[in-house]
Amino acid sequence: MASTTSGGQVRQESLPRRPYVREAELWVPLRDRPGYVRCDLCARRCIIAPGKYGVCGVRKNVGGRLYTLVYGLLTAMNIDPIEKKPMFHFEPGSQVLSISTVGCNFYCQFCQNWEISQSRLERGLYGRYVEPEKVVEKALEYGADGIAYTYNEPIIFFEYMRDVAKIAKKHGLFNMMVTNGYATPEAIRALAPYMDAATVDFKGGGNPEFYRRFMAVPDPSPIYTALLEMKKAGWFIEVTNLVVPKYGDRVEDIRRLARWIVENLGPETPFHLLRFHPDFRMRDVPPTPVETLERLANAAKEEGLQYVYIGNVWGHPLESTYCPRCGYKVIERRGFAILAWRLTRDNRCPKCGYRINIRGRFHGGGGDILPLMIY
Ligand code: SF4
Repeated sequence: MASTTSGGQVRQESLPRRPYVREAELWVPLRDRPGYVRCDLCARRCIIAPGKYGVCGVRKNVGGRLYTLVYGLLTAMNIDPIEKKPMFHFEPGSQVLSISTVGCNFYCQFCQNWEISQSRLERGLYGRYVEPEKVVEKALEYGADGIAYTYNEPIIFFEYMRDVAKIAKKHGLFNMMVTNGYATPEAIRALAPYMDAATVDFKGGGNPEFYRRFMAVPDPSPIYTALLEMKKAGWFIEVTNLVVPKYGDRVEDIRRLARWIVENLGPETPFHLLRFHPDFRMRDVPPTPVETLERLANAAKEEGLQYVYIGNVWGHPLESTYCPRCGYKVIERRGFAILAWRLTRDNRCPKCGYRINIRGRFHGGGGDILPLMIY
C-alpha cells in the first residue's frame, strides 16, 4: 500500500490483513495537505499525517486513507444488569450484553477501566475478533434484552458498534451506549436509527479546567452539543458525573450542570453522582466522602432535577427512586438490584398518581451482579 508523505515522496506502508482492520468511516482527505486526513468521529477532529494515529490510538492514516484497527477486536463480553451502566429509567431490570475494545479519546488520570482504555501504549492493540452476527447470537443465547457498548469509549469503535446495533435491532434487542459524550453530531446522526439510549458521563462537574488538567480534553463544550443531538434523535438519556474530591467537587459546577440539564434535556432526566475510587494515576486521592455526594445531590435537586442518585455507595438511600411529587419510594434498589417495584402498570406512583419517567418495560427484580465471561 503506498502512502504520500508531507514532502510529496511515496512511502510503502502496509496494514496486516486482519478482519479487524477496516477502512474507517466519517473522515475526509485534506485538500491543502496531501496525504493528511481529518477524522470526524469525535470532537477532537484529529488531523492525521500519513503513517500516524489519531489521539484514540486505534485509527490510523495509511496511504492517505483512514483505517480502524479495532473493528470487532473485543476485550470484554459480559452480561450485566442495565443498572450497572448506570441506567435506571430505561428498560429497568433488563440484562445487557456489554462489549468493548481497547482505546479511548480521553486520557482520564482516574480511569477505572484503564487496562483497556489506556494501556494500548504499553501493550499495543489486543483483543479477540468477534463477528457482529456472533455478538447478537451470544446476546440471544444468554437471554440478554439488549446490547451495551461500554467499558471503553464506544465512539472509537463506531463502525462495529453501528453494525452490531443494526443486527441487534432486527432481532428485537435494544442498544445503549455508555459514553463520554465527545461524539460529533455526524456520528450521532449515523447511529441514530439503531441506538435507543445513552448514559453520558461527565467528570468534575464538567469544569473545563478539570477536563484540561486531568483528562487532556481541551474543551468539554462539544458534549453539550452531542447531548442535544441525542435528544433530537429520541434516545433516552441519563447523565452521570464522577465527583473527584478536592479537584472536581465544586458545588457551583454541579449547579451549572444540573441547570443545563433541566433547561435542555428536561427535569425528568436521571442524574447520577458517582463516588470516586482511587485508581490508575490518581491513587493518592481518597474516595469521595459520602457527605460531599449528599451535598451535591441536594444542590442538583434544588436546581430542579427530579431524579438524583448517588452511585458507588452500596446501600445508600439515593440508590432508590422517590416520587418527585409525594416522596414515596417507588423503586427500591440495592447496588444494581431492584428489591421492590411499586409503580402501577402505567408507571405511576401508587400513592399520588404522578407519572414516573420510565421508558420500556420492567424486566423483573433480578438485577443481581452476574458477570458472565462468555469466552
Ligand atoms: S475518534 Fe476522535 S480521537 Fe480518534 S482519530 Fe477520530 S477524532 Fe481523533
